[in-house]
Amino acid sequence: MAKHKTHFEDCDVLVVGGGMAGTGATFEARHWGRDMKIICVEKANIDRSGAVAQGLYAINCYMGMQWGENQPEDHVRYARNDLMGMVREDLGYDMARHVDSTVHMFDEWGLPMMKNEKTGRYLREGKWQIMIHGESYKPIVAEAAKKSADKIYNRIMITHLLMDEAQENRVGGAVGFNMRTGDYHVFRAKTVIVAAGGASHIFKPRAVGEGMGRTWYAPWSNGSAYALPIAVGAKMTQMENRIVLCRFKDGYGPVGAYFLHLKTYTQNANGENYEKKWYDQTKELVGEYIDHHPTPTCLRNHAFIQETIAGGGPIHMVTTEAFQDPHLETVGWENFLGMTVGQAVVWASQNIDPKYTNPELTTSEPYVMGSHATCSGAWVSGPEDLSPPEYFWGYNRMLTIDGLFGAGDTVGGSAHKFSSGSFTEGRLAAKAAVKYIQDKKAEGIKVTDKQCEDFKVAIFKPLETYQVAQNEITGGTVSPSYISPIQGLQRLQRIMDEYVGGIATNYMTNGNMLKRGLELLAWLEEDLEKVGAEDLHQLMRAWELKHRALTSQCVTEHTMFREETRWPGYYYRGDHMKLDDDNWHCLTVSRRDPKTGKFSLEKVPVYHIVDENEKKKAS
Ligand SMILES: Cc1cc2nc3c(=O)[nH]c(=O)nc-3n(C[C@H](O)[C@H](O)[C@H](O)COP(=O)(O)OP(=O)(O)OC[C@H]3O[C@@H](n4cnc5c(N)ncnc54)[C@H](O)[C@@H]3O)c2cc1C
Repeated sequence: MAKHKTHFEDCDVLVVGGGMAGTGATFEARHWGRDMKIICVEKANIDRSGAVAQGLYAINCYMGMQWGENQPEDHVRYARNDLMGMVREDLGYDMARHVDSTVHMFDEWGLPMMKNEKTGRYLREGKWQIMIHGESYKPIVAEAAKKSADKIYNRIMITHLLMDEAQENRVGGAVGFNMRTGDYHVFRAKTVIVAAGGASHIFKPRAVGEGMGRTWYAPWSNGSAYALPIAVGAKMTQMENRIVLCRFKDGYGPVGAYFLHLKTYTQNANGENYEKKWYDQTKELVGEYIDHHPTPTCLRNHAFIQETIAGGGPIHMVTTEAFQDPHLETVGWENFLGMTVGQAVVWASQNIDPKYTNPELTTSEPYVMGSHATCSGAWVSGPEDLSPPEYFWGYNRMLTIDGLFGAGDTVGGSAHKFSSGSFTEGRLAAKAAVKYIQDKKAEGIKVTDKQCEDFKVAIFKPLETYQVAQNEITGGTVSPSYISPIQGLQRLQRIMDEYVGGIATNYMTNGNMLKRGLELLAWLEEDLEKVGAEDLHQLMRAWELKHRALTSQCVTEHTMFREETRWPGYYYRGDHMKLDDDNWHCLTVSRRDPKTGKFSLEKVPVYHIVDENEKKKAS
């Protein structure tokens, strides 16, 4: 252990992850906590880290309240509809009422925003989206964070949260290691804001082998946002609500601008509007939800998946009409240049010019995240002025662990935040974290050297395991005494794919499959004690895998608990194929006991706050 030097840092606010939510949190923490010590720790480099690393072409969440375009209530109704009723409306409203101010700051900071030439307003791509030249999006928000923090640590992966040993259920900081130097870092903190993004690669991806990194969701997002809180016993919500995306095949290029701005549409191989064909069948499953406008994302996926199973594929996006207009053709290509250059390369390699050939679409493997058309994540307190008692315990965006906050993909129940909403949620969490310290809630935290030393041993164990077990390699990378991170990852992905509703089964699962999946995940957990890492990069892979595996257990437990198919098109419970509002119009909340590793689950009411308030006003 001596070869891994230990560094200690004491601070007030520790931000884990410097993506959209993390940069927002770091920036806002300085605003409210002028004299506080604020540290941000990032696994990569905050200039180009997180889901927005490559850039974006649209800010997907902007109300436009200054022009009366949308109000927060409208956004709550929109997210509620898209998630088949299951959202935390207090969190969604709170984000929506603040998100415009975030976007206005991005504009001031120099993010190139497209403007409508006639009105002078931000150019709309759709009701909620505004268009940007977003290649520089991430460096711009990173600069704001860099100017606000006392220190940004890049290339440090946080592996565990520290817990206070003086007061039960209170956070005390976090630990991790530097992936370049191999040094061990202890951050003793009064508050921790987890903003570590979502989880890709827990389900087997469509692209395997050489193409394995080609997923829709950022391949480096490994579920730390979930595993860190789950490991210390924080409550989680809606973890069954994984997302499946309909995107251009193989490159996963975005379709939003195509649908909304270019007005392209989809058809099956025979040139038919297949969505209509599945209307009656979908109505049988989900009732009147299919008549909602806009059609919920999962239900559009459902029609796609059913049509493909029925042999109507491939499904195409009809681009050949829109691309005859030179302006729209330019927009279509530029859309990829700002965020998914790879899609243009895929088309070039397959001789597809969308002006003459309609490109193919696909549905992705499932991902776990909290900021898109899905809302898996931590169960957090809402804002004081909006939240009913079950949703409020003192500080906005605080998890069920005192002093531990979350934002962005970390937070469950609040869908459709996207980049701007995640940054905004980071700001909200930071403001509350500072208040928590000012209210003297973080006095007397005790983190012993023993706790820190124990984690140090655990963190570097995969290096030791490899050091010894490599002597027993029988061929290639095969050894009876250790598994490598890639072997463990592939095993995890197969379990999730085949038992928990991945692409292998067309997103189908049931109680028996989930039970078996949980058994296999438990054995994987046991074997992960023997994961070996030959270098520091593989050490990172080992810890990413452990975080993915814990996240997967939680996803599987939730999927088992909700005995209905609430989101056909995201996954199906074959033994409960229908949406069941009588029994399951509720949120699911889990807690893993850190001592036993056992999960317990409960139903929590879903409150439709926006329309309830309006009903009250009217009466
Ligand atoms: C393909 C794709 C396209 C999208 N398109 C749009 C769009 O067009 N418009 C839009 O508004 N939004 C879009 N989004 C959504 C937007 O990117 C996310 O909502 C937003 O990035 C979520 O913010 P976050 O901070 O939670 O996660 P991220 O921005 O992903 O940040 C998480 C950060 O945590 C770091 N991290 C992870 N684990 C650790 C650890 N253990 N220790 C330290 N650091 C860690 C990561 O490196 C990363 O920097 C898109 C997302 C994806 C994936």
